[in-house]
Amino acid sequence: MKKPMIGLEVHGYLETKEKLFCNCRNFHDMKLIKPNTNVCPVCTGQPGSKPMLPNKSAIDKLLQIGLMLGCKVNPVFLWQRKHYNWPDMPKGYQITISGAHSIPVAENGKFLGIRIREVHLEEDPAAWNPDKGTIDYNRSGAPLVEIVTEPDFTSSEQVQTWLKQLVLTLSYIKALNKDAGIKSDVNVNIKGLTVRTEIKNVNSITEIIKSIKSELRRHEKEKPIKQETRRWNSITEKTQLMRTKEEQADYRFIPDPDLPAIKINKQRVQDIKNKLPESPEEKLDKIIKKHKINPKDAEVLTQNLEIVELYEKVIKKINPKFALPWITTEWLSVLNHNKKTMKEVDINPQHIIELLKLLKENKITALAAKNILRKFIPKSFSPLKLAKSSEKISDKEKLLKIIHKIYKNNQKTIADYKAGNKQALNFLIGKIMQETNRRADYQVVREMLEKELK
Ligand code: ADP
Ligand code: ZN
Ligand code: MG
Repeated sequence: MKKPMIGLEVHGYLETKEKLFCNCRNFHDMKLIKPNTNVCPVCTGQPGSKPMLPNKSAIDKLLQIGLMLGCKVNPVFLWQRKHYNWPDMPKGYQITISGAHSIPVAENGKFLGIRIREVHLEEDPAAWNPDKGTIDYNRSGAPLVEIVTEPDFTSSEQVQTWLKQLVLTLSYIKALNKDAGIKSDVNVNIKGLTVRTEIKNVNSITEIIKSIKSELRRHEKEKPIKQETRRWNSITEKTQLMRTKEEQADYRFIPDPDLPAIKINKQRVQDIKNKLPESPEEKLDKIIKKHKINPKDAEVLTQNLEIVELYEKVIKKINPKFALPWITTEWLSVLNHNKKTMKEVDINPQHIIELLKLLKENKITALAAKNILRKFIPKSFSPLKLAKSSEKISDKEKLLKIIHKIYKNNQKTIADYKAGNKQALNFLIGKIMQETNRRADYQVVREMLEKELK
């Protein structure tokens, strides 16, 4: 049986205010700050510096992740030193909970059909640029979570769906920084044909998928029977040999004498468990069943925690079906058009409620509502004031005057319509909308025009 076996060691950035062993900030968008401006003696590994006690909120987030992935949480964590000499790690070792003598933080879980072997925590090394010889310590010491799966995946497509759902789920508990992305070691072999290759440090979901496809092709062709560690070259889109099993790195793990063991009592685990928010699947289920929203639209809503939360607030006051397209179609397209995420804009759900009420009560047209929605970037406002100037015109006398004015200037279009070109009617309606600043009542205008043109 020639079935691919794929296992992942996924690393993600924990969403915390501070780094793991010092009070430097835990930035996610490194492009925003100058190199080496977010550093201290601890995270630059100065001789004699000692780590502070580990960031409590990082430990809490880690426990949340373990529980969300259905793992059993262990009562004691031990910190270990993982030794290696590399420019990104000046103190000569990385502090980690994983390693030779370690007890995993959490183990034996299952997430969407894939068994989770264990969950770990470690500090991120600095960023070394081998071409320039420069090192940036801004992210050095940031808390990284490591999630190790069993080799249960059988295709790259399955890995892709699973990873996307993993990132989404962990962003729901605000434990993982979605924008910081993930990196992963990817283990691949073909059962009964080849021996496992480990591809180190692949940088995004897209590259992970490419690396699996490429490596499976290589396994089919070369049928490797020696265990190897390889690196991914995203330019050639092929893996390259780093080392064979015999030259496997020896990290000389020892317990870190500067850090006490962390004891996790049952109550802390229970408290975190009780407070775990809904997962994307639970939200999806609720949106479909409770609010009777079709699965496709519910899926669009739940792809983003901030969007589904906005929707849930809006439908406290507005009929869910009525509100739906205004979030899934209109609001999302406003965000996309402006290339903004919910985190980058300041939206008060109350303002959307007011807007939809005006629309529902027929005080403004749908077009006017769309117009106001566009103005909600970067910050929403109460649409009640604006509504006055965009009040809907349904008064027939008023409309008739406008229609006659449009007639005068569009004689040819009218002739076209009379000659059978139905499109011409829409053109005329468009002109009237333009003339009234989109305030004319569409239905009324249409009926009037049809009657007039007979
Ligand atoms: P190592 O310590 O060498 O990294 P582990 O046994 O801890 O090896 O496994 C690490 C990862 O390798 C896990 O994600 C696991 O699922 C994966 N893995 C183990 N055996 C295989 C295999 N035969 N094929 C694919 N992946 C595997
Ligand atoms: Zn620091
Ligand atoms: Mg490994």
